[in-house]
Amino acid sequence: MKSEIERVYQQVCSRDPNEKEFQQAVYTFLLSVDKIIDKLPEVSYHRVLERMVEPERVVMFRVPWIDDEGVCQVNRGFRVQMSSTLGPYKGGCRFHPSVNLSIMKFLAFEQVFKNCLTGLPMGGGKGGSDFNPKGKSEAEVMRFCQSFMTELSRHIGADTDVPAGDIGVGGREIGYMFGQYKRLKNEFTGVLTGKGLDFGGSNIRPEATGYGLVYLSQAILADRKMDFEGKTCIVSGSGNVAQFTTEKLIQLGAKVVTLSDSTGMIYDENGIDSEKLQYVKVLKNVKRGRIKEYADKYGCTYIARNNDEPNPIWNIKADYAFPCATQNEILKEDAENLVRNGIKLVGEGANMPCSIESEHILTSNGILLAPAKAANAGGVAVSGLEMAQNSMRIQWSRERVDQELQNIMKNIYKNISEAALTYSEKDNFIDGANIASFLKVSRAMIAQGYV
Ligand code: NDP
Repeated sequence: MKSEIERVYQQVCSRDPNEKEFQQAVYTFLLSVDKIIDKLPEVSYHRVLERMVEPERVVMFRVPWIDDEGVCQVNRGFRVQMSSTLGPYKGGCRFHPSVNLSIMKFLAFEQVFKNCLTGLPMGGGKGGSDFNPKGKSEAEVMRFCQSFMTELSRHIGADTDVPAGDIGVGGREIGYMFGQYKRLKNEFTGVLTGKGLDFGGSNIRPEATGYGLVYLSQAILADRKMDFEGKTCIVSGSGNVAQFTTEKLIQLGAKVVTLSDSTGMIYDENGIDSEKLQYVKVLKNVKRGRIKEYADKYGCTYIARNNDEPNPIWNIKADYAFPCATQNEILKEDAENLVRNGIKLVGEGANMPCSIESEHILTSNGILLAPAKAANAGGVAVSGLEMAQNSMRIQWSRERVDQELQNIMKNIYKNISEAALTYSEKDNFIDGANIASFLKVSRAMIAQGYV
């Protein structure tokens, strides 16, 4: 690492020594920037990197709510407004007990560059709470969402900051939060994306992250005369991204043999077909059950998760792997298993699913790696299209939005592969995604002065 890059990284580490995930996200990004920084004296002169790693604003707040026993519970809420360089802050909200400032900042940081890659005018942000929706009643989830939005509403707006969903925040939570925002502000605006189709949502938004992941992977494969037909795929997670990744893979002729949740994984040798996937959607989105019930119903293998051991999902023989659960779900030994099993492509549906070490193992063994910033950008891309439709007070058809999404993902592939070739090496899509987005955001930051 060049001294300037090293200095910026050390500053991040010494300023926030406990923020491991944020440090990891910054480090991976700086490794790519390191390859071009010598050619960009203006970036150094204007202290662009120092500004990029510091959020424009962080809001942290108390979220009190009443549980079904009538007892007051208190959670912590966050909104990290990382960058408004390219547009209003934009990024999802995560409700999960693991949520802390480090996770919020890593997600917000990545979001800036991901949103840039979509080509749409969006800045980057992220929010959430350590609230755990699991096991809560409908009424408790609603009261929590209303309390969360009561404070968040002071900091967001259709032209300021437009949150959406993420882990633990789907259509139900967005609906409750949108209702509360509308009530507090007395205005019906596109302040959240991922809304229901009946009240300003966009067609294809629920599908967009998973579909986009497969479209981008398809573009990478097509360039190498490869495709999905008859190929075996392993997918982790069983939430929004995993479900629609699986759906698109099935449509393209692939056989998906795994899904998981935080308690375990299923391995269905016969493949998860459309009917079984429909069962998963109802199980996860309506009944809010455990993936084990799939194994009980269809009589396939179930392996309970043991956090002290390598994740068994990455030890299943397949052609392509799609981590779609959470950060750092592929560690060193998992990557070694993927290599040993002859995986050809890893498409990152989750944000930062690979540790730095595992990323290195995968790429140095010739596995094509579609990095999250590019690979899961389809969700926020359609959120950007939802904002555009809301501004115009219209709703586009499924076909139109799907076509726009395909075009955006193809364009992302073009931009990251060209940047990889120009500034790094062929097929290094991590560098490609980081450098292509860094160049655009830094140019815009310099043009806007020291803000
Ligand atoms: P969901 O809440 O719909 O699903 C998350 C899935 O991952 C669940 O199966 C969950 O299991 C599992 N999971 C969550 N945390 C852990 C954990 N610590 N260990 C093991 N499994 C875990 O979330 P999404 O599908 O929306 O998000 C998945 C990933 O995709 C996240 O990294 C998110 O940031 C990323 N992403 C999502 C986008 C979107 O549009 N939704 C856009 C871009 C990225 P369980 O039910 O047991 O908790």
